[in-house]
Amino acid sequence: MKKFLCTLLALATCQLSSGEARVEEVPVVVLGGGVGALTAATYLGRAGITPIVFTGPVLGGAIIQSDSVQNWPGELDISGIQLIEKMQTQALANGAILRPEAVLNVDFSKRPFVITAKEMFQKEPMKIRAQAVIIALGAVPNMLGVPGEKEYWTRGVYNCAVCDGALYKDKVIAIVGGGDSALCDANYLSNLAKKVYILVRHDKFKTVEEARKKEILSRPNVEVLFNTSIEEIKGDGEKVSRLLVQKKDGKKEELAVDALFLAIGSQPNTSLFQNQLKLDESGYIVLKKQQQTSVEGVFALGDVVDPEFKQAVTAAGDAAKAALQAQRWLVNHPLLVKKEEKSQNVPPAQTVTQLASHAQLQEEIQKKSGPLFVYFYSTHCVPCRTFSVYFQSWAKEFLGKIRFFKVDVDKVHELSQHYGISAIPTVLVLDKEGKILYTGRGLNDLADLGSHLEEMKGRESIDLSNLR
Ligand SMILES: Cc1cc2nc3c(=O)[nH]c(=O)nc-3n(C[C@H](O)[C@H](O)[C@H](O)COP(=O)(O)OP(=O)(O)OC[C@H]3O[C@@H](n4cnc5c(N)ncnc54)[C@H](O)[C@@H]3O)c2cc1C
Repeated sequence: MKKFLCTLLALATCQLSSGEARVEEVPVVVLGGGVGALTAATYLGRAGITPIVFTGPVLGGAIIQSDSVQNWPGELDISGIQLIEKMQTQALANGAILRPEAVLNVDFSKRPFVITAKEMFQKEPMKIRAQAVIIALGAVPNMLGVPGEKEYWTRGVYNCAVCDGALYKDKVIAIVGGGDSALCDANYLSNLAKKVYILVRHDKFKTVEEARKKEILSRPNVEVLFNTSIEEIKGDGEKVSRLLVQKKDGKKEELAVDALFLAIGSQPNTSLFQNQLKLDESGYIVLKKQQQTSVEGVFALGDVVDPEFKQAVTAAGDAAKAALQAQRWLVNHPLLVKKEEKSQNVPPAQTVTQLASHAQLQEEIQKKSGPLFVYFYSTHCVPCRTFSVYFQSWAKEFLGKIRFFKVDVDKVHELSQHYGISAIPTVLVLDKEGKILYTGRGLNDLADLGSHLEEMKGRESIDLSNLR
């Protein structure tokens, strides 16, 4: 009965039986924090189900690497980060609970499913049980692993032609790869660029589409360089200007280009599901129909199921289907006949206050009502995106005991200048008089701060005196 109530209440943390570890049980867990996961969360929320979303290492997923997304419906041009912020706000407004844990393990062999996850600052992993799971873990692009690749990533080196190709109109572009995706990219980019080189490591293409290959290669601005491998990507520190390539006979030469597109495939993030779900030979999750995997109640979407298109909008479309399918599945499931009661469209409680000025912080300090955590961030900082989720969860955990504030360093210079902030993310811990007790700079320091807070969880009073 107790277990049943847990399921109905969905968010309750329940002691299943005396002595057993506390394990939350929820209707649906969404794995991932990108376009697909956030869309699924919004749909689930609107269907009356509170989704728990384990966002993992990168809240926002692959799209936040793009400065300019021009193919998202309804947006002429939007940065990936802005797009994700809108999607995150929408998911939260519909009741989604975003949690920073990364999934370590899943057990789909029995119901409810068990998911083991751990957040960066936790010592021990936690477990959660779910009646249904939606997988949106994305893919990791294959990289060449040559010098210059990391340095120029998104500044001339890309892996998505339809996303970033338009930045190189009338320029010289190289594509590396010898498969269908290299030809697809060449098809798209040769309509934009002055010149397109296709660099193929071997002496032929692996493609099966002969007619298409012939047509693309006959274009006057497309040139194929067979038996050519890239040794180094060079540039002026800001953008790519040339490639050092090696021919089969060992001769090296430089090729002047403005951009390089990698078309050497990507690996779906599915190693967790080996022996649990049916995967194809490349590791993509095999779907039966409409986002259903080989295990009933487990749905998958986006880049983990799609070796071909890999677009934000296709991930979002899949996500809508997966969420609606999950909802149907839950309705037909005996344990969840009754819908959980929850308020919809209620914005999340304001636990972190955005500071707009130094004077505002001074006013807060004057209240002398406990320690303050002040978090300095910028919307373009990727580690800040990861950390923001933790900061928000600390704010919820220590509500009423610690006061939490955040400062966008791009907007409120006076505060970052006053405190001499030289790196982000940074958290200042101030005592109730406003004296600095601790400064945590970067994720390593903040992990220490997180460990300290872990020990304070559940305590009546918070002791920050031994923070170093
Ligand atoms: C540089 C770049 C530019 C792009 N530009 C465009 C564009 O302009 N237009 C377009 O349509 N598409 C673009 N794409 C493609 C698009 O971003 C992807 O197709 C889309 O993000 C896929 O969505 P997804 O939800 O499947 O995966 P993702 O958005 O990649 O999300 C994967 C999520 O899984 C999480 N995760 C990973 N491991 C774990 C774990 N163990 N536990 C929990 N969570 C985990 C990650 O933290 C991440 O949040 C671009 C891709 C790249 C790389």
